[in-house]
Amino acid sequence: MPEPLIFEISRPGRCAVALPEPDVRLSDLPGGLGRDDLPLPEVREVDLTRHYTHLSQMNYGVDTGFYPLGSCTMKYNPKINEEVARLSGFVHLHPYQDEETVQGALFLMYYLQEFLKEIGGFAAVSLQPAAGAHGELTGVLMMRAYHLDRGDAKRDVILVPDSAHGTNPASTTMCGLHVVEIPSDARGNVDLAALEAACEEHSDRLVGMMLTNPNTLGLFDEHVEEVTGLVHEHGGLMYGDGANMNALLGIARPGDLGFDVLHYNLHKTFSTPHGGGGPGSGPVGASERLADFLPAPIVAVDSERSDDEVEFYTFVNPPKSIGRVKAFYGHFGVMVKAYTYIRMLGPEGLRRVAEYAVLNANYVMSQIKEIYRVPYERTCMHEFVCEGHFPDAPDVRALDISKRLIDYGFHPPTNYFPLIVHEALMIEPTETESKETLDAFANALLRIAEEARTDPTLLHEAPHNAPVRRLDEVWAARNLILRWKPE
Ligand SMILES: *Cc1c(COP(=O)(O)O)cnc(C)c1O
Repeated sequence: MPEPLIFEISRPGRCAVALPEPDVRLSDLPGGLGRDDLPLPEVREVDLTRHYTHLSQMNYGVDTGFYPLGSCTMKYNPKINEEVARLSGFVHLHPYQDEETVQGALFLMYYLQEFLKEIGGFAAVSLQPAAGAHGELTGVLMMRAYHLDRGDAKRDVILVPDSAHGTNPASTTMCGLHVVEIPSDARGNVDLAALEAACEEHSDRLVGMMLTNPNTLGLFDEHVEEVTGLVHEHGGLMYGDGANMNALLGIARPGDLGFDVLHYNLHKTFSTPHGGGGPGSGPVGASERLADFLPAPIVAVDSERSDDEVEFYTFVNPPKSIGRVKAFYGHFGVMVKAYTYIRMLGPEGLRRVAEYAVLNANYVMSQIKEIYRVPYERTCMHEFVCEGHFPDAPDVRALDISKRLIDYGFHPPTNYFPLIVHEALMIEPTETESKETLDAFANALLRIAEEARTDPTLLHEAPHNAPVRRLDEVWAARNLILRWKPE
């Protein structure tokens, strides 16, 4: 039953609060600031409570249901992370405090850097960037700085595969560099012949390459070491988009595969609630070659002020640092959550995350692939991409399937990405779901495929039971209406 709008239940004179009698003399606000003609709703406390609680329940989130949004790693975020991040000693820190008074926070940052170094196989880590895309910008600036430092100013080309996340070419362009797109081969890997040709053609202009591995098809590149080798041979550097680290934790390390710099998405792999704009955190790991260029400051042990019992932590600037990329020290609250998550799981637990993430994705794929075509059909990693399109139901599109999933109580997968798959549905179940949930989701997809043939209108008009029906998403994005206005 639709809830009445708060303006509809408004009655003159009703009020949700009882203020005490003022114990000071009343006076008017100056300059006509006090207005009594504002159309504010007048409601009782219980109506107000119900209004906001109802609004909160109209939302869909990881805590309310299955959220297989590919590339976003919408895993369950353990509540212990929030408890620790809310400890008053962390919450009430001020970034201008003296180092001696924030040793606990610096300890946490130092060991988070150490853990991320170990997990990714890198020589050093900076926690500054605020999100994945910001980490990309940071990493590409570091690659550019490396070439400039060697007096090699003519390099201005970055190779980006056609399966890349849109942020990769965007970050390149923001750094004033040029993108050269590299096609994928029939198995979903980087096309080695095309890569070789591009490396030859742009050899003296090559800054490097940005590669996501596993890529956005959910596939581990079968020639990743040849790819990194080729780019290095031509004087380029390898950037790793680490958004897909969920598939690799404890199993493979990008640093060992030849990547020189990589961003981690703490808010994806290392469990911080995300979506709706943040806050995230996109630390960057660097090989020996690039470590000196990391953004400043990073946390180090101050050996002069340490003794046998207690280490003293201090901020240092890497010698050739590209400088600051963020005010103060990055999003500390997210770092606390990631640190807690890593410590709770330990090395074996982290490895199990990746194993179950991969197992769950392969399981869902196996349940639906006879009905939903999987164009690059290989053992997938933590996600897979299928086509939301059936030859015998030509009017039904991936978007219709996604909207119909809402009626079944599931958040839709990512749609129309990566661009190289026709009517793409990109499904990432994550490790935190049970077999029952995965079965229910796969069954919903199979029933929807049936409906596509027997009753396509049902899909075209979906969702049927959501607070809002099918929206014109382009119109909505161009003409934002952020508040309801009374008539
Ligand atoms: C999410 C994502 C990014 C960008 O990360 P943000 O934290 O959203 O800026 C980059 N690449 C891939 C593959 C991603 O999935």
